[in-house]
Amino acid sequence: MTRSDLLREMMAELGLGEAVRSRVGGAWIEGAGETVQLIDPYEDAPLIAYPDAGAAVAAQAAEAAREAQRGWAATPHADRGAVLTRISAVVAAAAEPLARLEALSAGKPIRDCRVEVAKVAEMFAYYAGWADKRHGEVIPVPSGHLVYTLREPLGVVFQITPWNAPIFTAGWQIAPALAAGNGVVLKPSELTPLTSLALVALAEARAGLPPGLVNVLAGLGPTAGQAAIEHPAVAKVIFVGSAATGRRVAAAAGAALKPVVLELGGKSANIVFADADLSAAAKGAQAAIFSAAGQSCVAGSRLLVEASAAEAFQARVAAGMARLKLGDPLDETTEVGPLGNRAQHARVSAALRDALADGAQAAQGAAPAQGLFVPPTLLSGLAPEAPAATEEIFGPVAAALPFEDEAEAVALANAGDYGLAGAVWTRDPGRAHRVAAAVRAGTFWINGYKTIHVAVPFGGFGASGFGRSSGTDGLAEYQASKAVWVETATPPRTPFGYDAG
Ligand code: NAD
Repeated sequence: MTRSDLLREMMAELGLGEAVRSRVGGAWIEGAGETVQLIDPYEDAPLIAYPDAGAAVAAQAAEAAREAQRGWAATPHADRGAVLTRISAVVAAAAEPLARLEALSAGKPIRDCRVEVAKVAEMFAYYAGWADKRHGEVIPVPSGHLVYTLREPLGVVFQITPWNAPIFTAGWQIAPALAAGNGVVLKPSELTPLTSLALVALAEARAGLPPGLVNVLAGLGPTAGQAAIEHPAVAKVIFVGSAATGRRVAAAAGAALKPVVLELGGKSANIVFADADLSAAAKGAQAAIFSAAGQSCVAGSRLLVEASAAEAFQARVAAGMARLKLGDPLDETTEVGPLGNRAQHARVSAALRDALADGAQAAQGAAPAQGLFVPPTLLSGLAPEAPAATEEIFGPVAAALPFEDEAEAVALANAGDYGLAGAVWTRDPGRAHRVAAAVRAGTFWINGYKTIHVAVPFGGFGASGFGRSSGTDGLAEYQASKAVWVETATPPRTPFGYDAG
C-alpha cells in the first residue's frame, strides 16, 4: 500500500471521507481556492491535495459559529462541562487512529503523537471541570452599592494554529473556549489540517458537540485566515505560530479593533552549570532540542554551558546525539522524525549552511538519506550575536555557548527578543531560584525541560508573544468581565446631585 492510500484509509476510519474539506455548521464544505498540496515528509512525496477554503467558507464558518454560540451560551454550565467530558472520552477512545494520522501527515514520531493526543483528552477533561466553576465576584464599594461581576463568553473566537503540533494546539485552544461558552472558528495550518478536522467531526458524531459550534477551515492564512480575522462575528483572535506571521495577524486584528493572544516562537536558553548532574543535564539537553526534530516552540535551542565543563559536556551531548534513532514517524522505535515540510527543510538547511560558512563547528548525528531529514546538530564556536545563536531555526540544531559565571549566563539567556522558555541545571538551589527569577521567560524549568500541563499557564514575553494559554489564565482569555451595580438605598440616590426631576 502506498502512503497516500494509507492516508486515505486513516481518513476514512476517522470519518473524514475521501477529500480534505472544511467542517462548517456540522457539514463538509469543499473550498474553491488554489490547490494546497500535502506531502509525506518521510518520503518527501505527495499525499493528497485540496482546494483552499478561501474567504467565502471562512465567512460561512463565522456565521455558523455565531448561530451555534447563542444556544451554547444559554446551555447550563454543567451541561457544557458534560459535553467536554464526553469529548475527552471520545478522544481517548480514538487515540490510536488520531495519533497515526498525525504521525503520517505531520511527520512526527508516533510515540510523540500518542503523548500529544493523550494530552488533548486531558485538556477537555480539565476544562470540563471549570465550565461551572468560574464564578464572578461581589466587590465591596464605599457607596454601599451591591456590585457583582459576571464572566461572560466573548461570542465567536478565531483560533489559528501551526503545523508542528496540530491536534495538540487545537485541543489546547478549543477546550477553554468552549468551557467559557464561546463558539469557535479554527484554522489549522494548511499543511496539517487533518487531525483538527477529525477531532471536531468525532466530537460532533460521538460526544454531542453541537454542529457549528466549532468550525474548522482547511485553508490558507492570507485568504481564509485574513477573512476570518475581519469577519464581524469574530470577537477575538488567538494565534499560535511564528513571530513574523504573528505580527501580521496582530496588525490585521488591530485594524479591526480586536484583541489577540499571540503564542509565538522562541530561542530558549538551556543553562548548564558545572555543578549539575551532568548525565541528567545531557539527556535533558537532547530532549530539549532533538525531540520533535527541534520543531517545538519551547525547544532548548541555545545550550549555555559553564566554561569549565563546556568541552566535556558538549562531547557527552554529541555522543548521545549519535545514538538517536531517526526514521519513519510511523515506526515505534523512531525517536526523531523528518522536518515537517519542504519549506522548513530548506530554511533549516540554509541556517546550517550559513552557520558553517560563518566559521561554526558542527557535531552531527546520522540521518536517513531520503525524505526531509536534517541530522541532529550541535553548533559551537558561534558568536553570541550570530544568527544561529539568536534566531529561531525550528529544527534539530542547538547552538552551544560557553559562559563564565551566573551573571553572564543570565545576560546571555536574556539577550535577544524572545522570552518563551528556559531551564537551569545546577545542584545549588539558591542559584537555581535566582536564575529562574532573572531569566525573562513564560516557562522555566529547574533541573528538567519540556514538561507542560494544561493546568499550568503558558505564554511568552517580547517576540514570543503575549497573553496566556492553559490553566485559569488561559480560560480568562476566553471570558470578559461585566460589572453590575445594584442600588441598595431607598429611595435610590441620584448621582452627582442631578435631582431636578
Ligand atoms: P506560521 O506563522 O507560518 O503559521 C501559523 C498559522 O498562521 C498557520 O495556520 C498559517 O496558515 C497562518 N497564517 C499565515 N499567514 C496568515 C495570515 N496572513 N492571516 C492569518 N493566518 C495566517 O507558523 P508555522 O510555521 O506553522 O509554525 C511554526 C511556528 O509556530 C514556530 O515559530 C513556533 O515556535 C511557533 N509555535 C509557537 C507555539 C507557542 O505556544 N508559543 C506553539 C507551537 C508553535
